[in-house]
Amino acid sequence: MTERIFNFSAGPAVLPLPVLEEAQRELVSLPGVGMSVMEISHRSKTFDEIIGRAEGGLRELLGVPENYHVLFLQGGASLQFSMIPMNFLPKDGSADYIVTGSWGKKAVKEAKREGAVNVAATMADGGFTRTPGADEIKLDPNAAYVHVTTNETIEGVEWKREPEVGEVPLVADASSDILSHRIPVEKYALIYAGAQKNMGPSGVTLVIVRDDLLQRIPDNLHTMLDYRTHVENKSLYNTPNTWGIYIIDLVCKWLKGKGGLEGMERENEEKAALLYDAIDAGDFYRGHADPDSRSIMNVTFRLPSEELEKRFGSEATAAGLDGLKGHRSVGGIRASIYNAFPREGVEALVSFMKEFERTNG
Ligand code: PMP
Repeated sequence: MTERIFNFSAGPAVLPLPVLEEAQRELVSLPGVGMSVMEISHRSKTFDEIIGRAEGGLRELLGVPENYHVLFLQGGASLQFSMIPMNFLPKDGSADYIVTGSWGKKAVKEAKREGAVNVAATMADGGFTRTPGADEIKLDPNAAYVHVTTNETIEGVEWKREPEVGEVPLVADASSDILSHRIPVEKYALIYAGAQKNMGPSGVTLVIVRDDLLQRIPDNLHTMLDYRTHVENKSLYNTPNTWGIYIIDLVCKWLKGKGGLEGMERENEEKAALLYDAIDAGDFYRGHADPDSRSIMNVTFRLPSEELEKRFGSEATAAGLDGLKGHRSVGGIRASIYNAFPREGVEALVSFMKEFERTNG
């Protein structure tokens, strides 16, 4: 086997090795088909089975109720920043956005092009270190929907439970924590996520949308931007990312073998605890997020100086720990430890951190 390093990239990110190996075995010829998944029609019986399994796998893992549609779209999670207000923010209405980091800010920017936005809470002042408490959120009971980012990938801030929004539809960008732990799907009206962290390669966006929401969509939207097009055509209105959907199917199979989201959640919590314990062990490392808002997927921390952070990054890379540099907008260190990231990699990072502190502290 080719040697693999520990890949802490925030996304595209590490995929399960058994998935890559299965895809490699089937790359040139799908069993019984004689062609690659990338060479067959998206309208073939073979692909129909693949997309059916990918949808079924996600439904089973997440416990998606019957009255929700599961869609595989393109344009990344970023296009959802626009599609959501285009479809659900009426011209005479307003939508609530709770902003806990950089991606939520981007969602607000696009929504404002469509209509009125009420920023119900923003944690920008504190440098996006935590999610707000209920008393800090100023919700509008007449809002068209409430938008949250369940895990802010750049800052490493994650909601531990969804905010109480009453009857207003709750919409979530779950790009970087989908499938990392169990979620009560029925509490959300719409969940979206780019695939490239916990589900597969980039180029597919998962959208889970409750059926009754579709009635709110205006009739003048461009065909591709109207959720109803994708619901009515089962994500096959145009050519989808067939390869990406195929990998999602394999990832779901791998996840089921790990005991589903319950098993995955346990592993993820253990991995994250190892790292946060190392950060909290002394004063040298300083966690970015407040303890009760800490992400189990993106662990963000600082060192005493930027110079040390730079050295940490380059020495870590040389030691086979890749992708630890924080996002360019916030600096510091970010260890993304998605589902497929092995526990041994976290242990290796913890050892490296101890040694780095010993020689530089
Ligand atoms: N939302 C979140 C939480 C993200 O982490 C990302 C990508 N890192 C995006 C949205 C944007 O996703 P995409 O690149 O698929 O448009």
